[in-house]
Amino acid sequence: MSQRVLIPWAMPEIGKEVLRKAKVETVLIHGPKGELPTLNELTEGVRNADVLIPKGTQPIQRKVMMANTNLGGIANYGVGYDNIDIVSATGLGIPVTNTPEVLTETTADLAWALLMATARRIPHAHHHTVKGQWKGPGRDAFMGLDIGPGGSKRRKVLGIVGFGRIGQAVMQRSRGFKMKVIAYDPYLKETIEKMKGVEYRELDDLLRQSDFVSLHCPLTEETRHLIGRRELDLMKPSAILINTSRGPVVDERALVLALRRGKITGAGLDVYEKEPNISPGLLKLDNVVLLPHIGSATKDTREQMAITAAKNAVAMLKGKRPAHIVNPEVFESPEYLRKLKEKKEHGF
Ligand code: NAD
Repeated sequence: MSQRVLIPWAMPEIGKEVLRKAKVETVLIHGPKGELPTLNELTEGVRNADVLIPKGTQPIQRKVMMANTNLGGIANYGVGYDNIDIVSATGLGIPVTNTPEVLTETTADLAWALLMATARRIPHAHHHTVKGQWKGPGRDAFMGLDIGPGGSKRRKVLGIVGFGRIGQAVMQRSRGFKMKVIAYDPYLKETIEKMKGVEYRELDDLLRQSDFVSLHCPLTEETRHLIGRRELDLMKPSAILINTSRGPVVDERALVLALRRGKITGAGLDVYEKEPNISPGLLKLDNVVLLPHIGSATKDTREQMAITAAKNAVAMLKGKRPAHIVNPEVFESPEYLRKLKEKKEHGF
């Protein structure tokens, strides 16, 4: 019997092609327009699957995994894996993989575009123009903030929270703007201190000193509401917050209040606390730029993500170590070793 990969979303064809070439059966459960299955449909589908390839924002909780304790792996389509209950997966002997690197530059591009669009109020100015409201040059409308040194010749300070792949790629983009870069990342403190072109700061200092704060940490229990009322109060009134990491890293209610009261000047957001819902308060503000979670959304990058996820799935089906494992300790777990032994006995 061929091995089955469950794909509960509209995966790019190129990823499915990798699976077909590996002679793996693909089972698709999504609506005609790519609608995601219900929890029950997903759980039912997992029952007969060998590996699951979820979309990066699709919740995969213990209940789903418990439907099939023989599940051989979860190949997440995305670098973030906060949608998956990793503790349960590890306990049940299920390796989990992600798709890092291929989306780094694309997501950094979007963070940078968001920073520029928010600072220069580009979407607002565009709407004003296309609505025929422009009455000629020389008006003071749409005054923005400098990203480069600008007329004051003061170098602006970019504060990067989470100095991993995307955070560092954002730093590279700031070079042409002669910015001073400071970074906070408790797991990379010593590395950052040895690096050229960036200075380490603890979070509070970073928030006090930055003209732009860009968030690039994963969503974990430690980073949930990392930026709340206290932190927003520390920021400069002229500062702009950019979030392309995960919505719950920012307390959205506190952000709305801070933006309303002028505690900070603006925010550019790609992600929200309860996607796809957005706090109504945010939608009423004119000092925000809001995007629908499109950090990695280019055709090339999404295809590379699909290929990476599919290759990780094939590796797990073959009982091999996949290229991007997020819970490597699973390989020592008795549950995983039991499944591997059974697979070997059945010749995979
Ligand atoms: P990465 O693992 O290379 O970098 C994350 C960094 O955050 C690491 O260096 C880590 O040490 C640091 N970190 C962990 N806990 C922290 C904390 N408490 N405070 C500060 N820093 C902390 O990951 P990456 O490839 O750079 O991706 C980062 C995140 O971006 C992903 O986890 C994902 O959630 C998000 N992302 C969003 C989109 C989008 O569409 N908007 C696209 C890609 C990635």
